[in-house]
Amino acid sequence: MAQAGNSELVDSFEQFFRNYYDSEIKQLAQQYPNEQRSLHINWQDLYRFDPDLADDFIAQPEQLQRYAEEALRLYDLPIDVSLGQAHVRIRNLPETESPEIREIRARDMNSLVQVHGIVRKATDVRPKIEEAAFECQLCGTLSRIPQSSGDFQEPHECQGCERQGPFRVNFDQSEFIDSQKLRVQESPEGLRGGETPQALDINIEDDITGEVTPGDHVSAIGVLRLEQQGDQQDKSPVFDFYMEGISVEVDEEQFEDMNITGEDKEEIVRLSGSDGLYEKMVASIAPSIYGYDQEKLSMILQLFSGVTKQLPDGSRIRGDLHMLLIGDPGTGKSQMLAYIENIAPRAVYTSGKGSSSAGLTAAAVRDDFGDGQQWSLEAGALVLADRGIAAIDELDKMRPEDRSAMHEALEQQKISVSKAGINATLKSRCSLLGAANPKYGRFDQYEPISEQIDLEPALISRFDLIFTVTDTPDEEKDRNLAEHIITTNYAGELTTQREEMPSMDVSQSEIDEMTEQVDPEIDAELLRKYIAYAKQNCHPRMTEEAREAIRDFYVDLRAKGTDDDAPVPVTARKLEALVRLSEASARVRLSDTVERDDAERVIEIVRSCLQDIGVDPETGEFDADIVEAGTSKSQRDRIKNLKQLIGDIEEEYDDGAPVDIVLERAEEIGMDHSKAEHEIDKLKQKGEVYEPSTDSLRTT
Ligand code: ADP
Ligand code: MG
Repeated sequence: MAQAGNSELVDSFEQFFRNYYDSEIKQLAQQYPNEQRSLHINWQDLYRFDPDLADDFIAQPEQLQRYAEEALRLYDLPIDVSLGQAHVRIRNLPETESPEIREIRARDMNSLVQVHGIVRKATDVRPKIEEAAFECQLCGTLSRIPQSSGDFQEPHECQGCERQGPFRVNFDQSEFIDSQKLRVQESPEGLRGGETPQALDINIEDDITGEVTPGDHVSAIGVLRLEQQGDQQDKSPVFDFYMEGISVEVDEEQFEDMNITGEDKEEIVRLSGSDGLYEKMVASIAPSIYGYDQEKLSMILQLFSGVTKQLPDGSRIRGDLHMLLIGDPGTGKSQMLAYIENIAPRAVYTSGKGSSSAGLTAAAVRDDFGDGQQWSLEAGALVLADRGIAAIDELDKMRPEDRSAMHEALEQQKISVSKAGINATLKSRCSLLGAANPKYGRFDQYEPISEQIDLEPALISRFDLIFTVTDTPDEEKDRNLAEHIITTNYAGELTTQREEMPSMDVSQSEIDEMTEQVDPEIDAELLRKYIAYAKQNCHPRMTEEAREAIRDFYVDLRAKGTDDDAPVPVTARKLEALVRLSEASARVRLSDTVERDDAERVIEIVRSCLQDIGVDPETGEFDADIVEAGTSKSQRDRIKNLKQLIGDIEEEYDDGAPVDIVLERAEEIGMDHSKAEHEIDKLKQKGEVYEPSTDSLRTT
C-alpha cells in the first residue's frame, strides 16, 4: 500500500468524494437514515481519480473502507445531519478481480473480489446484536460489550459495582443490525459438460439485506475470509472461504457469458437462411442417438421457445414449452436429455429425486446454514433454470412436495413458498424437458398410456407435447440402430487409439470419415449462441394463414367428438401449445412472422403426439379424456360392463361367479382373455370385486 498516513488517506477520499460524488452524498444526507444508508461508489471512478488508491482498495479493503467512511462522516454538508453509521459500498470491480467461484484460492484471502452467480439459498433477515448493553440487576449500571462474530460475549463483572451480576440485556440500549446469509452458486451457463456448480456463502448486513431472493442472478462484491472446518473439539487444518458482502446487485441480462461477436452474428444470419435449416438443427441434437427426428425437432422448438405474451389485462401467457418423454427403459431418453446441457444457453440437468434439499421446486429448510437453527429458503432446479431449460430425468420419481408445487411452476411459472414465517414467490420461467418410465417399468399394450404414467392428469395436461417411446422389435429399424451405435463406438475407438497408441498409425482422414456420421451438423457452441441470439432478438407474430391453419386443425379435431357419446377430443390447452410451437418454429429461422409452413410443421408434431397418447386404444378415436382426466370413456364403460357381467353370473352360482365362466362370457362380448384378466385384477385392486374362494368372484 502507498505509504500514506491515515489522515492523508481520509483527505484523499474527501477530495475524491468532492470531485465525483458530491450530489450523491447530498442526496444521501437527505434520505439518511431511514431511506438510504449507503453511498455506492464505482471502482472505475476511484481508479480514474487515483489508480494507486483504487488498487489499495482491492488489496486492503477493510482499512480503506474505514478511511472512506471516515471521510464521509467529515464531509461538509449543507444540512445538519450526521452520517454516523453510513456505509461506503464499492461496485463494479475490474475483470481481473472477478474470478469464477471455483477459481478462488488462498492468495485471494482478505482481498476484495467480485463474483457472479445465482442465489441458491438465503436465510430470512434477522437482527444481529452488535453491541449488547448489560444492565446490572443490583445497581442498574449498563455495561456495553461489543459483539464480534462468534459466541455471545457476557461481562465478567459490572462496570459500576464490580459484582458479577445478575445481568439483563437491555434491548433498547443495545445496538442491532439486520443480517442475512446467502449462498451464491455458479450460474448454469458458466458450466460445461455437467460440472458440479461450486458455491460461496456471503454474509451481508444492514440496508443490503432482504433485497435478493433465491433464483436471482447476482454480482456480489466483498472481502474473502476464512472459516475453520470441523467443530470446537475437532478442528481441522483446512478452511472454508466465505465472503463479507459489501454489495449485492441483481444482474438483469438474460444470458451472462454469451459473447456473441460480430462474426458470430454474421454466421448465425447466414445459417438462418440456409437450405434444410430444420434438418440441420435436428442433426445437431444428440447425434449419437439414432432416430427420434420428431422428438429432436420438438427439443429444438423448445430451446427456441414461443413468445411470452403480456395481455392488455395484465395477465401473461407463457411462451415456454414443456415436453415429456415417456418410454421403455434403454431407449436413449437420458442421453437425449443430458445433451441439452451442451446446446442450451442456460440449462439445469437433474434427476427427479433432486440432488439438494430443495428438490425440483423450492423449500423452506431449517439446517445449519445461518447461525443457530434459522430458516432459509432454497431454490430447486426449476428456479435455478429460470429463463432457461430444466432437463429432469426420472420425473416420475419426484418427491411428493414437488408434485404439488409443480402445477404452479409449469403454468404460472412461479413457485410460492409459505412456511415458518417465510412467504416468498420464486420465479421459474423455464421450459421443462422431462423423461419418465412407465409405471410398471414397461408399457403394457392393453392399457391406455395415460394410465401407465405415474403422474397425475392435471400435471400431465400442462405439457405441450408428450412423446411415448416404445421399444418394439422392428427388423429394419433395429438394423439401422445397430449400425449407428456400432459406427459411433467405432469412431470413438479410432479416436482413442490415435490418442493413446500413436504407433497404431490411425489416419485423421479415417477418423473424419467415421465421425462425420456422428458429428453434430451445427457446432454446439455456435448453436448455443444462435439460440440465445434468436431469443433476444426475435419476437414473431402470426400471419393470417398460420392462424387459419391452426384454427382449422383444432376445429377439425374437436368435430371428431360431436356424436352424442363421443369423448371430447382436445381441449383449448392444446391450442395454446400449437401457437407456442409455431412461434418457436418461426424463431428458428429468425423470422418475425409465423407462416403457414410453421403452423403445418407443428400440426404434424401435435397430431402424432396425440395419436401416441390420446388415441383411445379400443376405438381408435382421439380422446382428450385420456390425457386430461386419466381414464378413457370406453375404458370406463368396459370396466362398468365387466363388473355388471360378474354381477349377473354371480346370481346364477351359489359360491360366486367362477372366473373361467366370466372369461368365457367376456370373450363373447368382445374382450379377449388377457384383457379381461387384467381388468379383473384391477377391479380387485379397487375393491370392487373380491375372491370369496379360489377362482370365483363376487361384486361388492
Ligand atoms: P433410457 O434413459 O431411455 O432408459 P439411456 O439414455 O440410458 O436410456 O440409453 C441406454 C443406452 O442405449 C445408451 O448407451 C444409449 O446410447 C443406447 N441407445 C438407446 N437407444 C438408442 C438410439 N436410438 N440410438 C443410439 N443409442 C441408443
Ligand atoms: Mg434413463
